Amino acid sequence: ADSGVPVESLVERRTRRLGTGLSISYDRPLHIVRGWRQFLVDADGRSFLDFYNNVPHVGHAHPRVVEAVTRQRALLDTNTRYLHETLLDYADALVARMPEGLERVWVLNSASEANELALRLARAATGRREVIVQEGGYHGHTTSLIDVSAYKFDGPGGAGRAEWVEVVAAPDDYRGAHRREHGDTGAAYGDDAARRVERMVAEGRAPGAFLAETFPSVAGQLVPPAGYLDRVYRAVRAAGGLCVADEVQTGFGRLGEVFWGFEAQGVEPDVVVLGKPAGNGVPLGVVVATRAVAEAFDTGMEFFSTFGGNPASAAAGLAVLQVVEEEGLQSAALRVGDRLLDGLRDLATRYPVIGDVRGMGLFIGVELVADRHTREPAPGVARYVAERLRELGVLIGTDGPDHNVLKIRGPLVVTEGDAEVLLERLEGVLGERGAGAR
Ligand code: PMP
Repeated sequence: ADSGVPVESLVERRTRRLGTGLSISYDRPLHIVRGWRQFLVDADGRSFLDFYNNVPHVGHAHPRVVEAVTRQRALLDTNTRYLHETLLDYADALVARMPEGLERVWVLNSASEANELALRLARAATGRREVIVQEGGYHGHTTSLIDVSAYKFDGPGGAGRAEWVEVVAAPDDYRGAHRREHGDTGAAYGDDAARRVERMVAEGRAPGAFLAETFPSVAGQLVPPAGYLDRVYRAVRAAGGLCVADEVQTGFGRLGEVFWGFEAQGVEPDVVVLGKPAGNGVPLGVVVATRAVAEAFDTGMEFFSTFGGNPASAAAGLAVLQVVEEEGLQSAALRVGDRLLDGLRDLATRYPVIGDVRGMGLFIGVELVADRHTREPAPGVARYVAERLRELGVLIGTDGPDHNVLKIRGPLVVTEGDAEVLLERLEGVLGERGAGAR
């Protein structure tokens, strides 16, 4: 029924009817009608290799997740005011994956809701509203979360920084103030943030929380340098604040070496926020916190989310954790990610437009530059490459404050063969005139 509808008419209907502010990918928008494993299929029956979407963590339409949800929906769908084992099993399974002490779980419907709750937890536990965030960070679309998302309040249509928000640099060791060729950037960025915390304390506005993506994604697929979060967390805790890890982009084994991003930095947050891949597409956001934080939140006010923690969502979440484990997807992410990083670094030796290749597992950024010495960003080339790859049947994204970073992620079921396909087509595109090749 979907095929044969001209893309233009769908674009026109959408523009006329849906709310404003939506964006759409690609000059020639995609009309996808089916997803299977690492592939998306459009209305004309053409398949695309998906190296972009991170929500279908264990693969588009994974039968195990689909079955768990369908079966539960056919049986019962209620809320947390009734007892249900699946929700408890899911919470137990998550806690078993967390460092000791992170032991209380709230299940919600999106990462925005989860970050909202994290802000409330921090206020309840510290009595403070002040929050420290990173430049270029994104945490969600609600009123408060726009206020703590520098990517939004400092971006198009943004109203600027609210007085209760403090912004520190993202730990970008390629383009930022501290660059990896000049020594210990983890210490440099960490100490900068620590000094900011001290200044806030001196000004009588000590932070209630430090909220950051453990590996900043919108800020350009950054890999934080070793020792960074440890320094920031120490300073924030010394000032009486909570450390909140937004693991929405990095959780559930994507990084290959570790199951959660904070493990790569050797730190233990007070609050962990999960989303996107948690339900493999079933709306699911989660907050995991320490007992002390949970107790501080227990003020007598009921916490209730109509859909949050319903048995079908819990079944999806549990199935995702089981599939990651049973199919060995964390080690697959490491293997395929390493193959991609090797191949991309090899391309960088031949294509000077590649200024930096960074990543861990299947969380990868390729920063394109017009000039390797000045590092002048090349957003036009990044856009060209993404558009051309789409023509060639491979989906990636672009991101970063300068829109010049190729964003490579995708479901964890992409194979080494898929990595070869991406590398080969990327090399072809980088050799084209539109990519700046002569
Ligand atoms: N945190 C991060 C790091 C995200 O990338 C996103 C979504 N892109 C969110 C929070 C908000 O998630 P949602 O759109 O599911 O509310």
